[in-house]
Amino acid sequence: MSRERGIVYLIGAGPGDPGLMTLRGADRLGRAEVVVFDHLASARLLDLAPASALRICAGKSVGHCTLDQNEINQTLVEHAQAGKVVVRLKGGDPLVFGRGSEEAAVLRRHGIPFEIVPGVTAGVGATAYAGIPVTCRGAASAVAFVTGHSDPEASAGRSGVDWPALARFPGTLVVYMGVTHLDAICRTLIREGKPSGTPAAIVESGSLPSQRVVAGTLESITSLARERHVRPPALLVVGEVVARRGELEWFESLPLFGQRIVVTRPRDEAARSASALEALGAEVVVAPTVEIRQIADSGPLDAAIDRLGDYDWLVFTSVNGVRSFLERLFERGKDLRALGGVKLAAIGPSTAEALDRFHLRADLIPPSFRSESLAESLAGVAAGSRILLARADRGRTILKDELSRLADVDQVAVYQNADADQLPDSLIDRIMDGSIDWITLSSSAITARLHALLPEPARRKIGREIKLASISPITTQAAANLGWTVAAEASTYTWDGLIEAMTRQVAAGRAPL
Ligand code: SAH
Repeated sequence: MSRERGIVYLIGAGPGDPGLMTLRGADRLGRAEVVVFDHLASARLLDLAPASALRICAGKSVGHCTLDQNEINQTLVEHAQAGKVVVRLKGGDPLVFGRGSEEAAVLRRHGIPFEIVPGVTAGVGATAYAGIPVTCRGAASAVAFVTGHSDPEASAGRSGVDWPALARFPGTLVVYMGVTHLDAICRTLIREGKPSGTPAAIVESGSLPSQRVVAGTLESITSLARERHVRPPALLVVGEVVARRGELEWFESLPLFGQRIVVTRPRDEAARSASALEALGAEVVVAPTVEIRQIADSGPLDAAIDRLGDYDWLVFTSVNGVRSFLERLFERGKDLRALGGVKLAAIGPSTAEALDRFHLRADLIPPSFRSESLAESLAGVAAGSRILLARADRGRTILKDELSRLADVDQVAVYQNADADQLPDSLIDRIMDGSIDWITLSSSAITARLHALLPEPARRKIGREIKLASISPITTQAAANLGWTVAAEASTYTWDGLIEAMTRQVAAGRAPL
């Protein structure tokens, strides 16, 4: 048998926020050849698996990719027996209402090695994000995790849950899978003696930007949940600890909590841009409108690199410009000494930071981060000198036009700014159904491409129901030329400035009247 390498890692993905998976889980996922995932495991986590890994959706909910438990077991066994490193990624913790033990038992029967990597179970993770401590000195010295999967009234005695004992349980009750039978569960607990005024809450989509918490009492929670259209995944929490939420709530107070924001930047920049937004509580939809590619003909760039000694100034107007220029320089067998005789200019702090990553310091950053300001600053120090502009193959020419009047300017394309062919269908659906709050515009080119890629009905929603956040007045003007009104404009022309502008707008909207 060729089973030398075959192994299965049963990994808990946590309740939703991808940051809640363990380091051990992330490490194993990074080595996966096959990933079999649940719908409750965050899609963002799948990005941690190598691009080449086979991704299999096991579903376990409505949807087209649903496998039953036997099929899941069989899939794990087959791939492991073929010698693959298999990750079984499950929501929360694999052994808490996750059938992880059944999967492990099947693997053991087949002699397949496995590891279990625990995860943050929803009963602990979703409640923490809701600001509800499951135990608390004085309020609860015990907690019970309970399944509400079967109807306590219809299946009395058969559900395996001793509801009369739970009604007397001296601590917090955390009921998983309880939404469908919420009414019967609460009624049963009250009938069996739990005071009807006991604080109770529903935590829906805990730890996700769509998190909602509905709080009331054992008596009122069912009708409150119905009014608010609570949907799975959701937990029912019953006990005095629910009342602590007022002091402990933190997640929903994050500055961009609940805001659904589209990032339109090229994919390699989008990940960093997205995590800055997510840290503030936003849900991010990545939809690149342009792509960064290598230039087709590197001849002119190579020639410029070989002639670097002829220039006094080397000017960068983007992070990609820095990265592409230096990568090419290294590929040509040179090192940083090739830049020894030349001064460096960066259009703004992000570009300067990109230089810094190569241990290079910008000699000049203009006070305002745009071409006009850069041209003006350079004019002050570089008149009469020889300047090389390292830039994208397209974009505004103002820098060259302005500087050419007083210096000897060459410009060279160091990377290609290509249009994305299409936007994800899911983005257009979300624009149409109103589940997007913001679209970010970080350049005129991105704005133009977004406009071109959107179907007319979607275009019409933008600037109205869906707000636009712009990185600079130039970008705002580009949007205006296309008939779009910008709701928030950065006062510092950087991604951080753009986030700050959105945050200000959201805060203004939240302020009490
Ligand atoms: N193994 C998982 C539980 C699987 S059972 C764990 O340890 O968390 C599925 C139930 O978990 C859902 O019906 C819901 O009650 C709960 N659940 C999972 N994710 C949740 C979330 N983000 N917010 C609230 N409840 C969640």
